[in-house]
This record gives sequence, structure tokens and C-alpha cells, in this order.
Amino acid sequence: MIGHDTFSPSLAFTLVFALALCVQLLLKFWLATRQLRHVARHRAQVPPPFAGRIPLAAHQKAADYTLAKGRQGLLEIALGTAVALGWTLLGGLDALNQALLALVGERGGGLLQQLALLAAFVLINGLIDLPLTLYQTFVIEQRFGFNRMTLSLWLADLLKSTLVGALLGLPLAAAVLWLMGAAGTLWWLWAWALWMGFNLLLMVLYPMVIAPLFNKFMPLADEALRQRITALLARCGFAAQGLFVMDGSRRSAHGNAYFTGLGAAKRVVFFDTLLQRLTPDEIEAVLAHELGHFKRHHIGKRMVALFAMSLAGFALLGWLATQPWFYAGLGVRPNFMLASGSQMPNDALALLLFALVVPVFGYFFAPLWAGLSRRHEFEADAYAAAQASGAALASALLKLHEDNASTLTPDPLYVRFYYSHPPAVERLARLPAPAAIS
Ligand SMILES: [Zn+2]
Repeated sequence: MIGHDTFSPSLAFTLVFALALCVQLLLKFWLATRQLRHVARHRAQVPPPFAGRIPLAAHQKAADYTLAKGRQGLLEIALGTAVALGWTLLGGLDALNQALLALVGERGGGLLQQLALLAAFVLINGLIDLPLTLYQTFVIEQRFGFNRMTLSLWLADLLKSTLVGALLGLPLAAAVLWLMGAAGTLWWLWAWALWMGFNLLLMVLYPMVIAPLFNKFMPLADEALRQRITALLARCGFAAQGLFVMDGSRRSAHGNAYFTGLGAAKRVVFFDTLLQRLTPDEIEAVLAHELGHFKRHHIGKRMVALFAMSLAGFALLGWLATQPWFYAGLGVRPNFMLASGSQMPNDALALLLFALVVPVFGYFFAPLWAGLSRRHEFEADAYAAAQASGAALASALLKLHEDNASTLTPDPLYVRFYYSHPPAVERLARLPAPAAIS
């Protein structure tokens, strides 16, 4: 089929993919430049709802930080599209596959070559991203006083995360490739089950094993705060395995708090940077907001949605992997029969092409996901206002915006498309007036 039937389906798919890539590029650029212009236009003055609460210098720092990150974002958009194009239509993945075929051949029934292909792809992408990541941390974050990382810590992180990624990723990839080859036409169903199991395992492993490789977690020492939070958890009917403080200040001045783990292994983690900045009232309100996500079933709904979407994704991949136009249309020659008479599998190619194509088409669904997320944030805010102090939540939001140099004047359309959290002005409008500023 391949070779003499290259016109209709594969050329059509090439055109559809190229079109989606172009539209996506233009849309991203248009939205990003709108955001930059909007923030620059409102730089001169603190917006009226925040007058007297956010100093002009902080507002301008937020504008400059947003502009600096946004300009780097333009570069990332261009690079991301070029890389997607390079791997697919310009023949990058095909060249890598052929090179590894020549190098590794059919040793291990082709599994070795396929794993090498996946690993090389991930490594090359990582290397391409490296300069921008470095620039982000050591130039932009540094300039605005957020970076606390040294180059050696950064390198140690990189090494550790690569090792953890390889330790977890390679066995998973080998298992999926094996299923693709051995489990028949319904392999995707088994692979999906494996993927779900892997994700659940990760939710248990992450707080216990992985996160401690990168940060120190100390039990919350402040007894008064501890009692207060325990009372809040009890009031909300929430079981947690412990309250921890994480040394987030080792890497960044940005503050945060989160829940991690699964079932009874859930823990509450505060960044030390957050505890230093917020009053006990505000900490309680921020935590109540996070609890609201559980109590309003956002976490459960989100997980069910992700499970369902990944099932649809695996089913789609199961079908695409058998279509010659899927490979040829994306610039890849599938592996042919070898001289020995055995067929080299194309499974790793199918996985990689799928991983390259999904974000291009999936991008257009981003506003749906973001819109749902913003609705959940409002609900969690309302929950926090009911269980703790809404005014304290409002003042915590103000502090966090100021400390993180988040812009108070985003472009409304950009917000609709991307923002997972509503802009401060909208959140504060639904809360009582913030407590007096400290
Ligand atoms: Zn939230």
C-alpha cells in the first residue's frame, strides 16, 4: 500500500496537519502580542480597584515581568512550531529512525531500537529546550529577584530528574511497546489500563519518594498554626496524613501551597515562602480554597475527565497506528520487512507521531479546559469564604499577586483562552473587601 498509494490519504493528512500547525502558530502569536500590548498599555497606572492596595512600583514590576516572560514566550512559540515541523514534515523523525535502525538493527526483536528511538527523541527535545530554560531561570527570574538557584543546584536537578525520568519512563515505554506488539488489536485498551495504573502509582510515589529527592519536607512546627489548620481540616471533614513545610525558597521566591498524594496518604504541603509572607488568617483561607477543590469534587471530576480523554486518545492511537497515511502523511517511512523476513515494528514511531500531533490539534480545545478551571476556582473561593475568612482570602490573593509579580491587567481574550485562574479583579469582586494590609 505504501509507495504507490501516497497521494490521496497521506497528502490530505499532510495538508490538514500543516494547516493546523499554521493556524495554531498565528493564533498563538496573535494572542501573545495582544497580551503584551494590553499589559504595556496599562503599565503607567495601578488599575482603580487596586489603588492604595498595590503600590505603583509593584504594579510596574508585574508589568515588566509579564512583558519579559511574554517576549520569551514568542520565541518559544516559534521554536515549538519549528521543532514540530522539523520532526515531522521536514523528516527529522524519519532520519533518526533510519539512523537507529542502521545502528541497532533488529536486536531484541526490534524493542531495543524502538526504546532507543523514544529515548533519543526525548533527549534531543530536552537539549533543544535547555537554552530557553536556562535563560528563563538565570536571566528573567534572576532579574526580577525570584531566582534562588545556583548553577550547580540547577545541574543537580537536571541530572536527578533525567535519572528519575529514565527509571520510570523506560520500563513503562518497554511495557507499552510490548503490549502494542503482543496484545492484539485491543492492545490500546491494555495500554490505557497500564497508563492509568502508572498514574495512580505516581500519585503515591511522588510525595513519598520523588519530591523528597528535590526538596526537604519538615513537619509544620508552628503549634498555633498547626492547631488552626487541623481544626479547619476537621471542620471540612478532610483526612490528611500530615502538614509539611517545603523549602521552596531553595529554588525560587514564588510561594505556593498544595495537596499531594492519594486517599489516606494525602498530605498538605506549604512552601516556606508562603508561610513567611501570609498571616495565619490568610494561610487558613488559602488552604480552605484548596480544600474547596476537593469538597466540590473538582479533583475527582478532573481525574475522570483525564481518564476518559486518555481512553479516547489510546483508542485513536490504536486506529492511527494501523493507517499507512498516518506515517507517510507526517514525513515518516514506516519500517519495512527485513531481509530476514521479520517485520520491524512501527510502534515507537506511532507513539512519537501521536505525541507530536495531539498538541497541535488539542491546542484548539485549550479555552474549554481553561474555562472549566476558572469556574472551579470561583467555586473554591466561595467555599473558602464560607469555611474561613473571605476577606483574608482576598488579602492573601493580593499579596500573592504582588509577590509573584502577576499582572493585574491581562488581556481579556488571552484570559479566556489560557488562564486557569480568573484574573485578580474578578476574584476579588466576588469576595468581601480584603482585610487591612499589613
Ligand atoms: Zn484553586
